[in-house]
Amino acid sequence: MATRGISILKGIEAQEVIGLLNKAYCDEWLAYYQYFIESKVIKGIMKDAAIAELTQHAADELRHATMVADRILQLGGTPALSPAEWMANSNCGYEAPEDPDVKAILKQSIAGEQCAISVYSSLADLTREKDIVTYDIVSQILADEVEHEEDLQALYDDIEEFVEQIRATLE
Ligand code: MG
Ligand code: FE
Ligand code: FE
Repeated sequence: MATRGISILKGIEAQEVIGLLNKAYCDEWLAYYQYFIESKVIKGIMKDAAIAELTQHAADELRHATMVADRILQLGGTPALSPAEWMANSNCGYEAPEDPDVKAILKQSIAGEQCAISVYSSLADLTREKDIVTYDIVSQILADEVEHEEDLQALYDDIEEFVEQIRATLE
């Protein structure tokens, strides 16, 4: 175990940070799979634009899982070893895309990002003065999750506007 790196934590136990990071780690795998499978089953208007966004987000969530796993290991912990832990230990859970409609899928994904933003925002608050390395990592991930929410919401709004325009020309 790398003792000096852990010794710089101030007023927080490595075990506490490891526990919280492991929950976020489980979220990232579930988010990865949710985006992956959404990009496969999605149907409907402007779905190509949505597939591009979902595929990019899936790659981002997998990158986040790597960042979080590496930090857990630096702190002397063990990232979740079994997929069975993902559901049991996550903050945000998993919503199967049972309705493949573009708007339904975007809505589910927006809710997932909003949950991720809350998780990383509280992790940032908790570690800010106490564990600056984790703080730096969770801040980077938080910025990505904020971008994800905005990307999906902008796409959702574009689709609604497009549908409205078509409706107006038909009247
Ligand atoms: Mg994006
Ligand atoms: Fe993520
Ligand atoms: Fe995300």
